[in-house]
Amino acid sequence: MKRKQAFRFQLKPKGQQERQMKRFAGACRYVFNRGLALQKERYAQGEKKLGYGELCRLLTQWRHTPETEWLAEAPVHPLQQSLKNLERAYANFFAKRADEPRFKKKGKHDSFRYPDPKQIKLDQGNSRIFLPKLGWIRYRKSRDVLGEIRNVTVSRSGGKWFVSIQTEVDLETPAHPSTTSVGIDMGVVRFATLSDGTYIEPLNSSRRHGKALRKAQQPLSRKKRFSNNWKKARARVRRLHARIADVRRDFLHKRSTTISKNHALVFVEDLQVKNMSRSAKGTAENPGRNVRAKSGINKSILDQGWHEFRRQLEYKLAWRGGLLVAVPPQNTSRTCPECRHTAAENRPSQAWFRCVQCGFEENADLVAAMNIRRAGHARMACGSNGIKPSEAGTHRGSSDRERHAA
Ligand SMILES: [Zn+2]
Repeated sequence: MKRKQAFRFQLKPKGQQERQMKRFAGACRYVFNRGLALQKERYAQGEKKLGYGELCRLLTQWRHTPETEWLAEAPVHPLQQSLKNLERAYANFFAKRADEPRFKKKGKHDSFRYPDPKQIKLDQGNSRIFLPKLGWIRYRKSRDVLGEIRNVTVSRSGGKWFVSIQTEVDLETPAHPSTTSVGIDMGVVRFATLSDGTYIEPLNSSRRHGKALRKAQQPLSRKKRFSNNWKKARARVRRLHARIADVRRDFLHKRSTTISKNHALVFVEDLQVKNMSRSAKGTAENPGRNVRAKSGINKSILDQGWHEFRRQLEYKLAWRGGLLVAVPPQNTSRTCPECRHTAAENRPSQAWFRCVQCGFEENADLVAAMNIRRAGHARMACGSNGIKPSEAGTHRGSSDRERHAA
C-alpha cells in the first residue's frame, strides 16, 4: 500500500521571492477565474463545457497574447493545475458534492501547486526547497520529510507563506494491532458518540472565537476601504481565522488518531454534510420549518468539520491496516439495538431513546452508534460491496467514499 503524507512548513522567502509568489498566486487565480467565466458564458449560450485539454490550449494562447503575456512569467504547471482545479470543482458540482464553482478573490486562499516532482528539489540539510521560477527558498524545518515527493503547494495564510510537501511512501499493509470495531454517530450536542459508550465533546471553535472575531471585524467596517488602517484591521482578522483553523485541525487530528489506533474497523453513517446544511433552507413544499434553529445546527456541523474528521479517520486507519466503512443511514436513530423494533415512538426526545416494545433505554446518540456498527457488520458479512478488512490499503481518497456509498 502507498501511504500519503503532507508536511507543512512556514517559508522564509526573500523580498523578491515573496513578490513573485504573490504574482504567481495572482496568475493562477486569473487563469481559474477566466476559465470559469468562459464556462459560464458557454453554459448561458447552451454550448458544451470545454474539457481540460481545450482549456490548456487556451492557456497557451493567453500566454502568447500581448495583453496577458505576464502570465508567461509564472511557471506553467501551476497555471495548468488551476485549470485542473476548475475541472474538479465542476465535477464535484455535477456530482452534487459541492456548490457551483465560484470566482476566487484576491487575498483569500492564495495558493498555487507544483504538480511535477521532477522540477522540485528538497535540500533538508540546509532547510531549503527549490521551486521552478522561484529558486531556493528557506523554510522553518520542524521535522524531516519522509517518502517520495508527489507535489508541492505554496499558500498564504494570515500574512505568512507556507509550503505543503505531499509525499508517498511504499508500505507493506500492516496488520492492525487492534481487533475491535466501533460505530460512530456524528452529532451536534456531542461531536461524536462511539458505540463503546465513549464520546467526544464538540469544539465550537468559531463560536468560542466568535467574540474575538467580531471585535476584530468591527474596525474593518468603520475604516476606509483599502486605507492603511483598514489593511491592518484586515490582517488582524485573517490572523485570527488562521488561528481558529489551527485549533480545529489540532482537535480533529488528536481525536482521529486515537480512534484509528484503538479500532481496526470503524463504521460511520454515510450522511452528506452538504445535504444536512442545505435542508434548513427548505423546499417549495416544505418551506423550512425551524429554519433558524436548523441553521444554528448547520453552523455547528460545518464548524466542527465532520467531513474533515472522516477524511482523517479514513487515511489514518488505512495506514495502520484498518478500514473505515460508510453505511447508508437507515433507521439508525429509531431501531432498538436489543429487539430490533423500529418505530418513531422509540425516540421520545432528541436526546433519549426508549424502546416501546422491550423497554430498552439509552442515550439516543449511543443507540445510533450501536446501530451503525451493527449495520456495518451486516454489510460486510453479506459482502454487498465486497469490502474486506484486508483490502484496507486499496481504499483511499474521496472516490472510495462514493464507492462505499453506492
Ligand atoms: Zn426493544
